Amino acid sequence: MATTLAGLSRYLLRLSRFRRHISSGNRNLARHSSRRRSDFFGAPKLGPPEVSRILRSNETSREVQARSLRAFDTNQLPSNNPMEDRLIVARCLLTTGHMFGVFDGHGGHNLAELLSHRLLDYIALSILPPALLKEYLEKNKRTHLVQVVHAIDSLTDRQTEVHFDSLNAFARNLLSSASSPFSMQDALHRAFVQLDNDISREIIEQKLPNGSQYAVMGSCACVVHIDGTHLHVASTGDCKAVLGILSDDATWLSKAVSVEHNTDNINELRRVLSEHPASESNSVVKQDRLLGQLAPLRAFGDFNYKWEASRIRELLVPQFGTYVLPAHYMTPPYLTAQPEVMHHHLTPRDKFLVLASDGLWEQMQPHKVVRLVGQHMSGKQTLDLLRLPRPLMKLGDVYDLLHIRHQGLAQKPSDANAATHLIRNALGRNEYGIEHGKLAAMLALPQEVVRSFRDDMSIAVIYFDSEFLRLSPAG
Ligand code: MG
Repeated sequence: MATTLAGLSRYLLRLSRFRRHISSGNRNLARHSSRRRSDFFGAPKLGPPEVSRILRSNETSREVQARSLRAFDTNQLPSNNPMEDRLIVARCLLTTGHMFGVFDGHGGHNLAELLSHRLLDYIALSILPPALLKEYLEKNKRTHLVQVVHAIDSLTDRQTEVHFDSLNAFARNLLSSASSPFSMQDALHRAFVQLDNDISREIIEQKLPNGSQYAVMGSCACVVHIDGTHLHVASTGDCKAVLGILSDDATWLSKAVSVEHNTDNINELRRVLSEHPASESNSVVKQDRLLGQLAPLRAFGDFNYKWEASRIRELLVPQFGTYVLPAHYMTPPYLTAQPEVMHHHLTPRDKFLVLASDGLWEQMQPHKVVRLVGQHMSGKQTLDLLRLPRPLMKLGDVYDLLHIRHQGLAQKPSDANAATHLIRNALGRNEYGIEHGKLAAMLALPQEVVRSFRDDMSIAVIYFDSEFLRLSPAG
């Protein structure tokens, strides 16, 4: 008994030390602690087949072949129970684009789930040309503007009803103000802000079932819109999108196409501080968190960082207690859902894009992610029959293709899905390759402690069609 108690206290001591490392945001310390983690949890309980079964249980791979979009791989590995991330893929029904969205919820999963099924309709609506917008309002109102290609859940009937009420009001609003020249950046910006405002109003007007629960939850969101050679990324919070580019000397380069909104971003920190009086400069951001509490500096929801204090006292304090009103809450709003939008003109060098929640990025740097997916692409070619990318190729080009394929044999991956390959590497890689004991320990962590070691991970690897991009005019 004494031995068990001594063991338990050592366990709790090491756990509390590790939690401090994680909460301080020092990712290097977290990584260095990985050696101790596998020692600490002893011999792996999961065998290789069980590890692969867990890693692959949420994976999806699809060939799309829609202009520049060739295919995608997605996967999600939960840490929270239930998982607070959401991932959605959809096709615009009235325009030619595709969209991918990653939503990283906090305080629960419900808001991320709600957003994932509403935001893409808002975006698809805001990018419609006026004539199509008018037609939609006349003929099709109360139908979705996107067709979901991949998602894990759906809205309830009541949520759908509330969604279309607000979406129709937004459509009427857009039509009456559609005089200025169209800008994709403005359209994405407007869709994000409108949905956040609509959810706030639906809670206040008691339209959403169990509405007040959404008021104290939040979610980051990153949405990628791909249409031909145009790639737009709109992001609020700390999800991230990174391009994998193959350079002329056949090395892989990574390029971030989104901006993270947290205290690592000095411009963002300056923006937040500039929106409040100097007298609040010590309390607006404290211990790397907004009002000492919230890690992302932009998010959907979290209306207890946006509403007037009187409204929080009236609507939220009676149900959730005084803790929902942050200390030093003097000049709201402190938080916004406004995204930063980036545009990239796709070229044949752009081979893929990795969109993921911070659960991946806090385990692995973007350049490593890009290198792993790049190697996975060449290794994966050896799993398929050889297909010539275009007819009437020169013999020299066919030779080059065979040479690349031969080199890829050495990198033949164990996972066909690149998102799964990334999760396996993020959790199990050491200097020499995948360490089964480390990977098995990370997957077998008890639910009470798992969140201290890894976050929910949601990953979409989006492949571009190099032939389409090669034949597309620049500009
Ligand atoms: Mg996260």
